[in-house]
Amino acid sequence: MKPMLITIDGPAGAGKTTVSRSLADRLGYTYVDTGALYRGVAHAALARGIESDDDKRLKSLMEILDLRFKLLGSEPRLFLNGVDITDGIRTPEITMMASAVSARPVVRNALFDLQRRLGDKKAAVFEGRDMGTVVFPDADVKFFLFADIRSRAKRRYEEIKGKGDHTLEQVEADMRVRDENDSTRSVAPLVAADDAVRIDSTALGIDEVIDEMLTHVRLKAS
Ligand code: C5P
Repeated sequence: MKPMLITIDGPAGAGKTTVSRSLADRLGYTYVDTGALYRGVAHAALARGIESDDDKRLKSLMEILDLRFKLLGSEPRLFLNGVDITDGIRTPEITMMASAVSARPVVRNALFDLQRRLGDKKAAVFEGRDMGTVVFPDADVKFFLFADIRSRAKRRYEEIKGKGDHTLEQVEADMRVRDENDSTRSVAPLVAADDAVRIDSTALGIDEVIDEMLTHVRLKAS
């Protein structure tokens, strides 16, 4: 099977990360979590006190940021200027900041180039919001994974339970704000590519989603 580039887009909490990682594992492909890159930018901006709408400072920041993934065993870790920031980028504060900075073209343009480079060799599964529409419009197979808001909020709540005192209602409210930011921004809004396979994960288990994806990937390869 010739190496393919696969994209998985969709809203937060639809199961993209679990599914993308497993699909990459099953195919022996690299997994690239592009949301982590936006979170890396958010982390750096917060650490320097940069406001999410300060394009001038964000632009200078993008020039000095060195974001790269390195494998620790089979675990992809994100390094920001040489420091492993993987464990610190899932806080609600960084989540909301990532959503805000991701609406700024200065940030998107800089990350666009980085993502394209990471996709050079194909044999990769890229997870994000605009992978199939903007970054890799020529991807070999594109998926759009979604689910209703309640089940997405529940999934996210289960993941972060015990890591702070968030209620399910708060998680759902934050998710609505993010959905709104992500789908209404003028640059690269969250939409399914016309040629994406749409999968509703509301009532599906992870394995069912992966099986459906593998079927499409094999079909494409045949
Ligand atoms: O996927 P994750 O929730 O980690 O992404 C964090 C934020 O980064 C999202 O809310 C979204 O605004 C932004 N993002 C994006 N484009 C991508 C990936 C993530 O705008 N390709």
